[in-house]
Amino acid sequence: MYEDGLPPLRDVISHYDLNAKKSLGQNFLTDLNLTGKIARSANGLGGSSLKDSIIYEVGPGPGALTRALLMNGAHRVVAVEMDPRCIEALAQVQAAYPGKLDVHFGDALKVDEQELIGDTKGRPVKIIANLPYNVGTALLVKWLTLKDWLPWYSSLTLMFQKEVGQRIIAEPRTKAYGRLSVLGQYRAEAKIMFDVPARAFIPPPKVTSCIVALTPCAERADTPKQDILEKVVYAAFNQRRKMLRTSLKALGQDPLPYLEAADVKETCRAEELTIDDFCRLAKVYKK
Ligand code: SAM
Repeated sequence: MYEDGLPPLRDVISHYDLNAKKSLGQNFLTDLNLTGKIARSANGLGGSSLKDSIIYEVGPGPGALTRALLMNGAHRVVAVEMDPRCIEALAQVQAAYPGKLDVHFGDALKVDEQELIGDTKGRPVKIIANLPYNVGTALLVKWLTLKDWLPWYSSLTLMFQKEVGQRIIAEPRTKAYGRLSVLGQYRAEAKIMFDVPARAFIPPPKVTSCIVALTPCAERADTPKQDILEKVVYAAFNQRRKMLRTSLKALGQDPLPYLEAADVKETCRAEELTIDDFCRLAKVYKK
């Protein structure tokens, strides 16, 4: 038994016969010290403490991170899980923390998070999750491309494969710099908090993972439209080895006039552009 009065995660997994399904990106954590470290790394991010915040968790599975969030004093946890086999294990956690954990069964890609969370009574919301790898990037893009500049969450603390984490925080002129770096850093400050070795999971994945923290930043003075920025960034990186005068032709206009108007050299390649460069390009492209 742990301090929450619940059995060790390995026992929970074997008791409920939760053999991991690859199709659901299931790699379970079992060490509550590690999940406690993940929970605490979100404390203070985006100016809000864990204790004051409502946590939105995707994929609680057998509950390793959920239990750590509650043990570390999260005000309330709202979780979305797609695997009905986890219902009973999560019901045990709900019983140990009455009124503190809401579990919804569904696809996190499709849910309206704000509707699930309901009235926050002015409390900040943090997204904290050990994401299923098969939909992790799509979820991040969903949360980073909201219509309103100021999102409904105050911070994101997310587990990714290390290679994905490095792409999110990458700087221009590096191999890892790409669409995810621009989307990640355009509206948020992103950093890798720590690595998580493959042996921490059941079953162990083939690669090292890492915890990435993202905190939304203040609106830029000259913000382009989100969908146009995405289009420009996609076209530029889709042919990342080509010069922009060629790669941006995919947008269906002659790129030379707006490259000039944005003061971006036509001979540059996508990876040489800063986020400000992309913003200027998206601004003039709109015109
Ligand atoms: N949080 C648990 C932990 O840390 O051990 C499990 C993490 S596991 C990497 C990902 C979890 O997400 C699994 O429980 C899986 O069933 C769930 N999942 C997969 N796809 C999902 C989706 N589209 N929506 C909601 N949950 C999903």
